[in-house]
Amino acid sequence: MEKILIIEDEESILMALEDNLKLEGYDVASARDGELGLSKVMENQYDLIILDIMLPKMNGFDVCRRIRQEGISTPILMLTAKSQEIDKVLGLELGADDYVTKPFSPRELIARVKALLRRAKPQEQGIEFYHFGDIEVDFKKYEIKKKGKQIYLTALEFALLHFLIKHKGEVVSRDAILDEVWGNDVFVQPRTVDKHIAELRKKIEDDPPNPKFVVGVRSIGYKFVE
Ligand code: CA
Repeated sequence: MEKILIIEDEESILMALEDNLKLEGYDVASARDGELGLSKVMENQYDLIILDIMLPKMNGFDVCRRIRQEGISTPILMLTAKSQEIDKVLGLELGADDYVTKPFSPRELIARVKALLRRAKPQEQGIEFYHFGDIEVDFKKYEIKKKGKQIYLTALEFALLHFLIKHKGEVVSRDAILDEVWGNDVFVQPRTVDKHIAELRKKIEDDPPNPKFVVGVRSIGYKFVE
């Protein structure tokens, strides 16, 4: 369940937001002033923050600035008052992702919330099922078949293949592969990528030394083609 924090002091707006978001299946938390809102953001993990500008104790701009200064990248949807164009611009400059102008309809707000949540998770919009050559892959079930026969890939090889297919036709560098498949905080030599690519080729290619799908691009990286 996705968690949304609403930082808003106007009771009626807060209640309406809470009700509508809960109806949509979100887990909703709230704070009625800027300071409390900020401390909640520091202490908990949210998927989205809805932030009003005019707030007691600390205004929404300062809350937004502080959140970004702390390196927290949770999407922020700002609530701005009608016709205050300057607020929208300032909010976006401070690191807000989008804004909704008051008064807004629940429907409009929900649409913005959904769009922001979707945008925030591009990596998770992965490919579930893919077919190339005589290979069929089900990334969700971690199953792969070659000529109708089950073959075995490690979780890392699945991730590697998924990344390459996602970037079909593009050259991806070893560093990009390391960042995405191994993760930023793991220290691995770029050559490790080559080793795993070789293993993957042995499993999926008919003639691994002359690969048809996972091709090397000299001194840069790899490319998935079909
Ligand atoms: Ca307010």
